[in-house]
Amino acid sequence: ADASLVDYRPPITVVVGHVDVGKTLLLDKIRGTFVAYREPGMITQHIGLSFIPWGAVEKIADPLLAKFKLKGRVWIRGFLMVDTPGHAAFSNLRRRGGSVADLAVLVIDITRGFEEQTYESLTLIRSRNIPFVVAANKLDRIYGWEPNENAPFLESYDKQREDVQGRVEEAIARIIEEFNKLGMDADRYDRVRDFNAQVPIVPTSAVTGEGLADLLVVLAGLSQRFNREKLRVTYGPGKGVVMEIREEKGWGVTGDVVLYDGVIRKGDVVVTAGLEGPVSTRVKMLVLPKPLNEMRDPEDRYMFMDEVRAAVGVKIIADGLDQVVPGAPIFVVPQGASLDEYMKLVKEEVSEVRIETDKEGVVAKADTLGTLEAMVIYLRSQGIPVRKADVGNVSRRDVVEASIVKKKNPLYGVILAFNVKVPHDIEIEAMQYGVRIFRNEILYRLVEEFTQWYKEQKT
Ligand code: GDP
Ligand code: MG
Repeated sequence: ADASLVDYRPPITVVVGHVDVGKTLLLDKIRGTFVAYREPGMITQHIGLSFIPWGAVEKIADPLLAKFKLKGRVWIRGFLMVDTPGHAAFSNLRRRGGSVADLAVLVIDITRGFEEQTYESLTLIRSRNIPFVVAANKLDRIYGWEPNENAPFLESYDKQREDVQGRVEEAIARIIEEFNKLGMDADRYDRVRDFNAQVPIVPTSAVTGEGLADLLVVLAGLSQRFNREKLRVTYGPGKGVVMEIREEKGWGVTGDVVLYDGVIRKGDVVVTAGLEGPVSTRVKMLVLPKPLNEMRDPEDRYMFMDEVRAAVGVKIIADGLDQVVPGAPIFVVPQGASLDEYMKLVKEEVSEVRIETDKEGVVAKADTLGTLEAMVIYLRSQGIPVRKADVGNVSRRDVVEASIVKKKNPLYGVILAFNVKVPHDIEIEAMQYGVRIFRNEILYRLVEEFTQWYKEQKT
């Protein structure tokens, strides 16, 4: 293809939230529902990404599109929905100065309201400035709810008994209240007047399919406010991010990559990053999972591609990927270009996240580049200085760094460990130095524990 051709990618839409709220089932249901309204060859699922064509959205949401004055006005071609099994995967969808995700769906269990990872997801969404909608899921669990398969929420809601409607309203009010406590405004989506200022809440059920139409219409509404250039893709050399590094039987260590621009081909030289520096390698295989309905048997799960084009999630098989740190950028090096230049580019990008200064500040450790970046952004927003930020388990060097800080400022001579291990001997050594190690799997709690301790020590 002509590298100068320009196209617009469907917005990459991440689905995030607490465990068990229904993220995966919601995506399955959307896929299942839309397969019924399928446009030829359109709905395919890639590594964690599934494409919902706009034509299919129009078919199930026509009355709603008219109601919200979106009919015929939407220019996006559909959505690329991404399931993020945990916050690491979501954090890793990073790129310089922002996120690979264009939109987010924050899923909350309507019967439970905010939970720990709801706050966590929200922190990430806000730190990366991603427009988002709340899916208040498990609507069918509201006591007395009478389901209407695949109906828009508003339509089904009107058919419910008054006491049932009351319970739905109460549940929504509780979610709104939580947002208010965080200094944000939110409302049921059809009552939102200003989408710039209020978080829209759409009640959904991944079991009955109710509210899915509403959810996609709100996402469409949010995308209408994008600057079109934000979604521009070229057919030039591929640019992506490594979401996960995984060992696969028979293939060795593979990288799940979200390609947000350009093209990647079998045989291409790519540059990405490891902890010891940039890694360059040649792509041996490009693999996409087959759509469910095209699989004949469990052995026949994959398609081997010669090239894929943005936006897409693709598994890359190549040597040396075991060195690579999730969250790292990955670039195709065009023929004739300088490999050194690309190595430098990757190095620069990674060194923006991995910090080493002489400053008095804390030592921050996280499991991936994405979680580390989220952690640094959050620490800074709380006014906590960072001396060192790096990926990996807590090491002797971290303890030494913190003990150096401790001599000058005892309150910053600490280690904050997010999703990483502290080997036993390192823990003992930290104790000997009097270096405190804070550990938590929930970012805001980790920082809260530290700030709490900080305040106590100060008084
Ligand atoms: P995830 O961890 O957020 O991906 O959650 P899953 O999609 O794996 O769902 C967790 C559990 O909740 C499963 O047992 C689902 O069947 C159930 N579930 C998900 N969505 C709904 C829903 O809308 N209604 C009901 N009743 N159950 C749901
Ligand atoms: Mg899931």
